[in-house]
Amino acid sequence: MLYHSTTTPSHRVDLKEAILRSLPPDNGLYMPDTLPVLDPAFWEIWHELTFSEIGIAVADAFFGEDVPPQALVDIVEGTVTFDAPLVTLGPGDHILELFHGPTLAFKDFGARFMARLMAWLTRGEDRELTVLVATSGDTGGAVASAFHNVPGTRVIILYPQGKVSGLQEKQLTALGGNITALEIQGSFDDCQALVKSAFLDRELSERLNLTSANSINLARLVPQTFYYIHAARQLPEGIKPTFVIPSGNFGNLTAGLLAMQLGLPVDHFVAATNRNDVVPEYLRIGQYSPRPSVSTISNAMDVGAPSNFVRMQALFGGSWDAMKTHVSGMTFSDAQTLAAIRTVKALYDYEIDPHGAVGWLAAQKWRATHPASATITLETAHPAKFLDVMEAELGANCLEIPERLAILAQREKVATLLPADTAVFRNWLSS
Ligand SMILES: *Cc1c(COP(=O)(O)O)cnc(C)c1O
Repeated sequence: MLYHSTTTPSHRVDLKEAILRSLPPDNGLYMPDTLPVLDPAFWEIWHELTFSEIGIAVADAFFGEDVPPQALVDIVEGTVTFDAPLVTLGPGDHILELFHGPTLAFKDFGARFMARLMAWLTRGEDRELTVLVATSGDTGGAVASAFHNVPGTRVIILYPQGKVSGLQEKQLTALGGNITALEIQGSFDDCQALVKSAFLDRELSERLNLTSANSINLARLVPQTFYYIHAARQLPEGIKPTFVIPSGNFGNLTAGLLAMQLGLPVDHFVAATNRNDVVPEYLRIGQYSPRPSVSTISNAMDVGAPSNFVRMQALFGGSWDAMKTHVSGMTFSDAQTLAAIRTVKALYDYEIDPHGAVGWLAAQKWRATHPASATITLETAHPAKFLDVMEAELGANCLEIPERLAILAQREKVATLLPADTAVFRNWLSS
């Protein structure tokens, strides 16, 4: 399979280049030349398959031309070592819990798959791979965990100072070993811009053998399609779900669109955002105006220039009308989000994290006008990752802290403080 740039479709590369280079030189994003469709035989038996079996079929559809079957099985089985259960709150109101992995966020799926695919693509090479990643909260932890102690790799994480939760920060800064954390005096968008600048510097990028672990990397998106399929078949047969996706960089939503492309029956997608609402605005008025992000309590969605928007556009052939047919946008304030956390607890005795709460609000709004719909809201992180917010709303000790998080909380933060300055960052990288 070849991959092309969304900016210059004639620029084509193979799988290894698309995954390890991550970013085409023209500043576009890589897309598969042909979008795979799972054959009818799969859609006859998909209700009976295990989560891993679904993953293996999807991975084969994307990567089967380039990666031998046994290697793909190992990559998928090494990734999907935990479940993504569907929890039903009320009639038609379903929550897909994506936080049962090692770092308690959905990003574990993408990061674990990517680490394994990269290890396979570079097998037998002796050059160290430097994985560069900007994080608004959860990506860094998932990537750090996925690559920690993987021989031949070094991970550099950029995170915005003061804009990630205390436990998220520990996940980035307390692992040590081959993981280095850079605390950037700026926003997530600044971090993302620094990472991009390093990639666009060909000389630096070649010398350090740089690769990116952000959701610009296709290897992260593909495994995220697994759980859309896995979730849909947990509904009674014949019910087409509406997926509600709390969104920031829109990698998760793009993965949902890829799942629909694979043949998954989907009624609709709802993109739910906090006040960083450039995509809901685009869906409403047809104009895309990226702008600086603002800080909210659902910090992993504080993105002002969502990197996967160009992929969403590409999947709809650049047509606003086509995108609107399949995707609606909704946006909610912090005050509404906090109220939702309390409501969900009061009505269902369920603790929903601030990101999931934004999604849950959108799901209620959707079903209010589409009462026959079954919504599946993606719960993207465990509420204990946002302990301050949760305890302020629901009271002290409202949550049990999973042991893997409690252990990290005891460890020391180690990070290097840098200004959001391209020249300073490149200097630091070079030395
Ligand atoms: C990353 C993240 C999001 C946003 O996902 P995108 O794929 O960037 O849209 C939402 N919620 C949580 C908890 C996250 O970590």
